[in-house]
Amino acid sequence: MSETQPTAQSTSSPGMEPWLREILRCPRCKGALADAAGPSAAELQCAACALAYPVEAGVPVLLVDLARPLGR
Ligand SMILES: [Zn+2]
Repeated sequence: MSETQPTAQSTSSPGMEPWLREILRCPRCKGALADAAGPSAAELQCAACALAYPVEAGVPVLLVDLARPLGR
């Protein structure tokens, strides 16, 4: 069994486990998060808070302090 590491490309699948993806909620408003392609990597965006949470190596970092404000 070999691990298949996805290359850095902006697809809708950042290589996250489906079950993990489903339980993800915005830590601020507890709302649903949307997959998005950030400037350099995948991220999870909360439209209500206008924040984007980074996904590092397939692991979402759901910390408000580390979230990127979404410009409008
Ligand atoms: Zn939110």
